[in-house]
Amino acid sequence: MSTALTAVKISSLSSDLVSSSGTTATVIAPFTGLPLHEIPVSTAQDVGDAAAAARVAQVAWRSAGFAHRREVLLKAHDLLLARKGELLDTLQTETGKTRGQAFEELFSGASVTRYYALSARRVLATRRRRGGIPVVVETRVSYKPKGLVGVITPWNYPLSLSLMDVIPALAAGNAVVQKADNQGALSILASRRAFIDAGVPAALWAVVAGPGDEVGNAVVDAADYVCFTGSTPTGTKVGVRAAESLTGASLELGGKNPLIVLGDVDPAKAAANAVYSCFSSLGQLCVSIERVYVHATVADAFTKAFVARVSSLAQGAALDYSTDVGSLTSAAQLERVQEHVDDAVAKGATVLTGGRARPDLGPYFFEPTVLTGVTSEMKCFANETFGPVVAITPVANEDEAIAAANATQFGLNASVFSGSRAHARAVALRIDAGSVNINEGYRATFSSVDAPMGGMKQSGLGRRNGPEGILRFVEARTIAESTGVMTLPRTGAEFAKMTGLMTTLLVTLKTLRRR
Ligand code: NAD
Repeated sequence: MSTALTAVKISSLSSDLVSSSGTTATVIAPFTGLPLHEIPVSTAQDVGDAAAAARVAQVAWRSAGFAHRREVLLKAHDLLLARKGELLDTLQTETGKTRGQAFEELFSGASVTRYYALSARRVLATRRRRGGIPVVVETRVSYKPKGLVGVITPWNYPLSLSLMDVIPALAAGNAVVQKADNQGALSILASRRAFIDAGVPAALWAVVAGPGDEVGNAVVDAADYVCFTGSTPTGTKVGVRAAESLTGASLELGGKNPLIVLGDVDPAKAAANAVYSCFSSLGQLCVSIERVYVHATVADAFTKAFVARVSSLAQGAALDYSTDVGSLTSAAQLERVQEHVDDAVAKGATVLTGGRARPDLGPYFFEPTVLTGVTSEMKCFANETFGPVVAITPVANEDEAIAAANATQFGLNASVFSGSRAHARAVALRIDAGSVNINEGYRATFSSVDAPMGGMKQSGLGRRNGPEGILRFVEARTIAESTGVMTLPRTGAEFAKMTGLMTTLLVTLKTLRRR
């Protein structure tokens, strides 16, 4: 299949990477298995140089103020949309996902850009808070950007996951040094161009690529705050390293996301909606559903409809909207998915549909796969497959479904399908996950950029999106002043005189219910 990404375009994009090593690494195009390009490899020294330049650029960017940053970001939003064709081609070529799922990335990236362009000033405005002693103390809180934010991103959703961290960091007045995964770096650089062309200084948002341990560690060491998105083992290492210098970090990690189908659903309708939740980007999505717990009363009808729909998905490599599911991104991903399926089958699971690689479609294609009879000794029971494999398990009642959903080290995303949204909301409150979707798998929460997104338990620390997502990137500074109305006691004699009055004040404040 021919790629719409020309060699000239690729070399122009990769020249934006900060790299002085003179060495390159080969990036493979998932649809073909052929080399896509040679990516320049960055070094720890490159990170240091980029960080120093970014810190210089940050001073002017911060002083330019919210109104300027808002104008630049809104212009970049429009450029992202104007460059839709090129961005979708790049995303598909680098990741192997379908055009629809590439568009979801662009939609999410544009949404988060609009959101922070329009909300940064409001969230970060200096505000009065109640003084400790009414009339005598007056208090304000203001926010100072951290300075340099380090962002480390994975290969699966390179555009949207980058912008979810980079844009609020910039909107708050910070600079960014980002370590891209080699796979996906072009998509990041292509979207970054829209921001540079809109007026973000090039040095303010530097992108590096290369080995995770060398370049990733250098990013952590250089930054005043770190955002990591990736696997739980790597995220844990990043968190520990950041903690050594008391650098704050948000960690967006893995999941083993459950979907509960309650007994009051229309099984066919529920199945049609549930399928999309499991196979977006062929399951290579942190919030993808890998476990379905279905109430026994609807289990047969739901499973039948679910399997029929999965079997009919159009799979292939096409830079248009003619396919429903695409390819896995790499040979390593194919190996991991095959291993999980083979292990499950060897230990007694049943493949209801799928279960096979599809070399006839491309080197890393694997069929959307539905398993049943998955038990705790199988690898795919508790470990993230991060691929197109979902296990359906009938449950006797709601309590059993909730207990099974929560019986995991992870707590990233979950979903509840029900004929009653109110009932589903009550169930959602009992699920230990950072996001819970009702009658949707992940898109309801993923698109809600005004609401926090993140993981409980081993799925992470901190939250992106919403006010929480920008408050990560600032230091709160409290400025409180004595109004001079009254002098606070300093000597024993002054305390002796005033403690009665101050005790009466405490009683009065409580009586008046004044915070
Ligand atoms: P990964 O942890 O292997 O790599 C992520 C990034 O970290 C890459 O850029 C990599 O080069 C870099 N890295 C590797 N070693 C490093 C080190 N020692 N220090 C610093 N950086 C280092 O993850 P992956 O395989 O690229 O991504 C898949 C995983 O990411 C899955 O577990 C998935 O669930 C998770 N993920 C989570 C979210 C979320 O928002 N919670 C989103 C997408 C992916």
